[in-house]
Amino acid sequence: MADNFEVIAGHPTSHLIIHVPHSARYIPEKVRGGILLGDADLESELDEMTDSLTAEMVLHATANLVSPPTLFINKYSRLVIDPERFPDEREIMNQVGMGAVYLKSSKGEQLREPNFDSSQLIANYYLPYAKALTELVTTKLSEHGKVLIIDFHSYRNEQHPNAVNHGQARPPVCIGTDSFHTPSGLVELAQSQFAIFGESVLNQPYAGTYVPLDFYQSNPRVTSIMLENRADLLVDEYLNPGPNFDEYSKALAQFITLAANY
Ligand SMILES: [Zn+2]
Repeated sequence: MADNFEVIAGHPTSHLIIHVPHSARYIPEKVRGGILLGDADLESELDEMTDSLTAEMVLHATANLVSPPTLFINKYSRLVIDPERFPDEREIMNQVGMGAVYLKSSKGEQLREPNFDSSQLIANYYLPYAKALTELVTTKLSEHGKVLIIDFHSYRNEQHPNAVNHGQARPPVCIGTDSFHTPSGLVELAQSQFAIFGESVLNQPYAGTYVPLDFYQSNPRVTSIMLENRADLLVDEYLNPGPNFDEYSKALAQFITLAANY
């Protein structure tokens, strides 16, 4: 049984799933062995790449809800496997060595050997994770007839050198949408709910939202929206809770409550 993710069951009446894929820093010892960076460089890479405190934010925002959503949280660092990237040639980030198993760092350094065999990481972590999340969506669909996935992230204020999305906006709030899976009313709700934090931009600097492949572009009853937050909404320069943490938590709690109408 894979233990690289955690499912926290919500209220039986809730058809919402909040997915938090990038919040953790943990790398198992045997996986650490395949990473070429020294300890100090690895820590700074984790500072850059981790969506710091996104799990804590979601736990905080949902703690007192009457009908809390189910939470699906990645407990391992995205440097182990990135559950939101395709494990094959479909993945655009392969161009910069950052597919489902990263070979390059955010600075473009060699993170793993160029000929690293990622099949074990895919088998041990990526596939069980995808299967569990697919099964959770399937179960919720059978119980409620619909599912809404909120895909929760943050991004650093400065663009990483090793990226494919250079030159795009980096607003406080980025809302990722999919033309098939994201209801327009839900986008408007997110924009109004988070307007107090400043400008929100659709699909810049990150586009799209997570839907398990079994339902992607085929089941309109699986809806999804990605909330990407510039990191300064959540954390300070030391990656501790920042000055906006509580206010953002309140806005997120209200968004989750209202999103249950979709
Ligand atoms: Zn992320």
